[in-house]
Amino acid sequence: MSEAFYQFHPSKPLQVQDDAPIAFLDRDGVINIGYSTYVNSPSEMNLIEGAAHAIARLKIAGYTICIITNQSPIERKLWDHHTLAEIHEHMIEQLEYINPDAQIDLILACPHKFSTSCRCRKPESTLLRFGASILREGSPRLSKKYGMTTLHLPYFVETNWFNAKPIPDHPLDVMVGDRRTDEGAGWGFGTRIFRIRNDSNLKKIIPRILDANDEGDDFYP
Ligand SMILES: [Zn+2]
Repeated sequence: MSEAFYQFHPSKPLQVQDDAPIAFLDRDGVINIGYSTYVNSPSEMNLIEGAAHAIARLKIAGYTICIITNQSPIERKLWDHHTLAEIHEHMIEQLEYINPDAQIDLILACPHKFSTSCRCRKPESTLLRFGASILREGSPRLSKKYGMTTLHLPYFVETNWFNAKPIPDHPLDVMVGDRRTDEGAGWGFGTRIFRIRNDSNLKKIIPRILDANDEGDDFYP
């Protein structure tokens, strides 16, 4: 298995904001409609109603936006990271068309299948940890080009599910997802956790996220 991840970010230069909270967002089921057959092309990237305005509200409130997504079709060889880049470019275009403030700062994707037992796939929190490092400290490895970058060892901290929840990097950091694996990834990095369920969506939970006193949903590993 290659210890690899795929990293994409918009064409604008990344601004390092070491004091801003980060909203880690799952992609499929949070920003766009998820399908059991995956999102395989830009034409299948269909935003969920209200997602763009919700992201804009987070941005305006001072959050940095980092998408953390498992995209096993890459290792399944259904398509490659170039396709993922095209899908993400289309997503970003749609978001900013609906609301110019709906800007994504960073996208990190694990390309592996569950059976590969990699260390970047959610529920591991490796990609959150790495995203926070890039967004808060910058990274000399940050490539301006789309492509594959080796994920270095310091970012692999295997979650110990029997310990107490780790102390967060920033008290307002948040992970939003529609699956238990998203909750686990947030828990492992100590963030507040908000789970989107059938009757909810990102737009509906924004008031909770923006409430600094809301500690998020309970999660029991
Ligand atoms: Zn992985």
